[in-house]
Amino acid sequence: MKQGIHPEYHIATVTCSCGNTFQVGSVKKDIRVEVCNECHPFYTGRQKFAAAAGRVDRFNKKYGLK
Ligand SMILES: [Zn+2]
Repeated sequence: MKQGIHPEYHIATVTCSCGNTFQVGSVKKDIRVEVCNECHPFYTGRQKFAAAAGRVDRFNKKYGLK
């Protein structure tokens, strides 16, 4: 490889919106993603479930229910 023409290559920490983090090789140091293999519905189906639970919580708060 020639010097100076290649971007620096790091191990980047990828932070997902679900809170999961993992590391990949990248020219960027930090990466944020919306979905990852931990929370993508294609892999788990959990995200749909979490979203539904969140709506129930908001409803309960709004109407003072526990
Ligand atoms: Zn995720």
